[in-house]
Amino acid sequence: MKTDGHATPLAGTPTDSASLGSDWVNADLATLRAKFYQLYIAVEQSPAATAITDTEGRFEYVNQRFIDVTGYTREELVGKTPAMIQSGMTPESVYRDMWQTLRSGHVWQGELLNRKKNGELYWEAETLTPIRNDSGEIVNFVAVKEDITKRKRQEEELKLLASVFQTGQATLITDANMRIERVNQAFTDITGYAAEEVVGLTPKLFKSGRHDKAFYARLWESVLETGHWQGEIWNRNKHGEIYPLWQSITAVHDENGKVRHFIAVFHNIAERKRMESELEHQATRDHLTGAHNRRAFDATMRKAIRQAERSDNTFSLLLFDIDHFKAVNDQHGHETGDIILKRLAALVSQTLRSTDQLARWGGEEFAILLQDTPVQGGTVFAERLRQQVEETRLHGLAVTISLGIAEYHKGDSPEAILARADSALYRAKRSGRNRVGIANPPA
Ligand code: GH3
Ligand code: MG
Ligand code: MG
Repeated sequence: MKTDGHATPLAGTPTDSASLGSDWVNADLATLRAKFYQLYIAVEQSPAATAITDTEGRFEYVNQRFIDVTGYTREELVGKTPAMIQSGMTPESVYRDMWQTLRSGHVWQGELLNRKKNGELYWEAETLTPIRNDSGEIVNFVAVKEDITKRKRQEEELKLLASVFQTGQATLITDANMRIERVNQAFTDITGYAAEEVVGLTPKLFKSGRHDKAFYARLWESVLETGHWQGEIWNRNKHGEIYPLWQSITAVHDENGKVRHFIAVFHNIAERKRMESELEHQATRDHLTGAHNRRAFDATMRKAIRQAERSDNTFSLLLFDIDHFKAVNDQHGHETGDIILKRLAALVSQTLRSTDQLARWGGEEFAILLQDTPVQGGTVFAERLRQQVEETRLHGLAVTISLGIAEYHKGDSPEAILARADSALYRAKRSGRNRVGIANPPA
């Protein structure tokens, strides 16, 4: 596609010299005048801007269309050269080539960016033809021009759209029957599928199996009713891996409101999700043991209290502390103490249900929230845990723990239940360690 007015001479077609037919040669003056007038009107009213120049390129005649297009009057144009409508944006080489082609008697065709009297730029497709007299000399040039500004603009727009399509987010375009028509490079980068592997197929190919029928039903209901859906969706790539996407699907309608295409635009959010959960992990976990930190535990306890207030269920709070841990540190070093803390947290985590939560309360003291567990059940659990720790060597060492357990009662504040568990733990320590202290209900 020519875009900047490069010459496209019609190779090897020098124009023949014109000779008048016998109907012209033998005509009387009145007939000649009529014939001339007919030709004049045809050119004057032609929808193609037309100009005749002398061999130096100066305008001798311009038709009405030429005047309308350029905004100049006939008087302003005649005697001048086309330099007055040049945009200044066409390379010199284009004009050099044009003159060379014309002077050697060939037709020149090309697209030029010109400028109207009001400064506005416009594109023309021009055909410039050398005109010869009876003796074969070039005496004029005729320019016939078509305004192609609209086409040029559409081409620019298409180019722009194409570059957005190619450089933007992963994009998939289907027809109304969900058959894939086009995908871009970003699509191939994310999914692993080349265009030729998916064109003609439907996006069912990418289903991960992680969403149920109802999920897709809601998705398509939204697309068909509102023309749009966006959200998180898990797909499967060419290598069989499942990954999360943020995807938006848009229905494209024709002028009658009928769906013609669906466009899906998406990006991979696996990395973002990984970072989010990493941040969440860092914010809610204790660095040494990986158990929840006090802040996270506090939130869990407040939530458990809200739930317990609204139902007949209750929960128990368990606090435990390693017995004589100072001695462990003193005899084996602080690093060994740290390892034991980690091992202990891992051991306890294994015994918990997924709804229960372990937190490092501070130092070598831990807390466990046992969901939906009255104190009787909690005590059984606490006793089993005590025994398990006693029987398990942690990093080769025998340690024991003392525990205190308290049940939540309606109206308890977090501080109140904690204080009861803490004094139960204190009692367990005082009465010999390696045992479970059970808190009394609030007075
Ligand atoms: P008991 O609880 O049976 O009364 O005796 P204890 O020796 O365990 O006494 P206490 O609980 O008061 O002492 C806590 C000790 O735990 C103090 C400190 O040396 C040790 N400790 C606390 N935090 C850490 C830690 O992060 N790493 C290590 N290695 N030791 C810790
Ligand atoms: Mg201790
Ligand atoms: Mg302690």
